Amino acid sequence: MAENKEIVFTGLGVSSGIGIGKSYVRESGTIAVPEYRIKVGRVKSELDRFQAATTRARRQIGRLRSKAKAVEGAAEDLDSLLDAYFQMLKDSRLVRGVKARIETDRINAEAAVQAEFGEIAKQFLAMDDAYIRARLEDIRAVALRLTRNLSNVEEKPFTHLPENSAIVAEELSPADTAQLNPAKVVGIATMLGGAEGHTAIMARALGLPAVLGVTGLLKGARSGADIIIDGDAGRITVNPTQETLAAYEQRKVVRVREERRLGHLKRQPAMTRDGIEVVLQANVELPMQLPSVDRTGAAGIGLLRSEFMFMNRETIPTEDEQYEALKEIVVGMNGKPVTIRTLDVGGEKTSAALMGDYGGSASSALGLRGIRLSLVREDLLETEFRAILRASAHGSVRILLPMVTTVGEVRRARDVLAHAARKLKRRKVPFASPLPPLGVMIEVPGAALSADALAQTCDFFAIGSNDLTMYTLAIDRGDEQVANLFDPLNPSVLRLIQFSAESALRARIPVSICGEIAGDARYTALLLGLGLRELSMTATSIPKVKEHIRAMDFASASRRASIIMDQVDAGRIAMLLDDFNALS
Ligand code: PEP
Ligand code: MG
Repeated sequence: MAENKEIVFTGLGVSSGIGIGKSYVRESGTIAVPEYRIKVGRVKSELDRFQAATTRARRQIGRLRSKAKAVEGAAEDLDSLLDAYFQMLKDSRLVRGVKARIETDRINAEAAVQAEFGEIAKQFLAMDDAYIRARLEDIRAVALRLTRNLSNVEEKPFTHLPENSAIVAEELSPADTAQLNPAKVVGIATMLGGAEGHTAIMARALGLPAVLGVTGLLKGARSGADIIIDGDAGRITVNPTQETLAAYEQRKVVRVREERRLGHLKRQPAMTRDGIEVVLQANVELPMQLPSVDRTGAAGIGLLRSEFMFMNRETIPTEDEQYEALKEIVVGMNGKPVTIRTLDVGGEKTSAALMGDYGGSASSALGLRGIRLSLVREDLLETEFRAILRASAHGSVRILLPMVTTVGEVRRARDVLAHAARKLKRRKVPFASPLPPLGVMIEVPGAALSADALAQTCDFFAIGSNDLTMYTLAIDRGDEQVANLFDPLNPSVLRLIQFSAESALRARIPVSICGEIAGDARYTALLLGLGLRELSMTATSIPKVKEHIRAMDFASASRRASIIMDQVDAGRIAMLLDDFNALS
């Protein structure tokens, strides 16, 4: 590959926009790990935690191998290296040694990895053999990956980024992405990651163009190289020519003009041509997004992902810390409603302060996620409720429970809420009266199927189409290899959305949808046709969706939705929808 020759890579364009800057390649470095002794009773859960870290590492390597296979010329070398890593994670002196240290020395898994690697390194270096030294580098890479997976910390934080950095990495976690400063970063490109994962969602929330799942990326990009990230076309151009650069600069100008045009819709109602009014709200992760919520004229916050407050820190935020952060948002919304979702860590949303205690379960999409973790740690849930209740004294607040599956979970959460309220009352701390409405996310197929029963126990629904699609179709939303199969237009997903919306309407409780389909104008007609009148989305999507609604005839959208709901094939549904959108 000649120096400075223009190279184009393709991947999944997950966050719209064009970023032009210098690439900042995040490479592996060393990690400071905590070291502590564990009690006899914790040995089993520590071994489970280590097991979960090796399983995750094997999965990462597997995905990197399938990416490497697609790179011409590079495949063989890289594949045998990755195969060596893979084998080492299955069974090796490193893995066996770590387990033995956890069991006999009773130390935490990170410390056991460090100690075992240190021992192996001492012996290998004493041999003074070039081949052995090279093997040691492989073991170091595996040990580092394990440590990273165990500690949920990343190799390098993005604290000292130069201006105009385009982040290039193997993978970015949602917590990593939340740390990026949009004033310094122009975009994101990674080898791993799917379009519906929280990294993609976070990139959209920060307005950062992003392309994930890019084959061959790390082989082609060096730190400091000129790079263009085209989040619309899913294209990365390294060392662009003058012509390419000029074409992209021109496209940026057109985008700015388009944004200005849409900006004029801020004060216009989201009303169809035949008079149906739709409530458009914003999904928010961090207080720094408030200005963009305000710019778009959102009617409120339909989903506040409170778990982002628990990321990138060593300790669990106290009641006061949570209250201050929530108050800032509630006050900032100036009387508009704010729907605060309780902690939804688990899966890809990690919290180092919390997850270490629950082995691999909390990092599994089917494990101790969302409300399940909160009900195991009722103390945390109660603290969170107290903080939310205190914030409710400053504006209009609703409380939302994530990952609910059963009616029993809602009842238990309601008891904890009542307990939190009683405590505040005794402390004479003000909060809203009556208590804020308590709603549930409909994002587990089991919850959707029992939506009629859930509607009797809660005050509102928020349909989470991201997880609902993931769990219904059994497709990991953050895995680029199955991204093409992730389809919310699958009739099974649509039927669950329809049943949930109808159950809410029958029970006369409000229902909204806050998954990513709410922010994609392609789906708007269908969602309105299914009975939804409240859509919550990344703030920057609001103007486009509003424009679409204002041009739409609701009666025709409704007729088209009922034709669509008679279909059994997702492809035909997509065609019927696209056809409708093209004509309206
Ligand atoms: C969803 O699952 O659709 C949702 C809105 O929640 P999250 O994306 O945070 O999982
Ligand atoms: Mg969800």
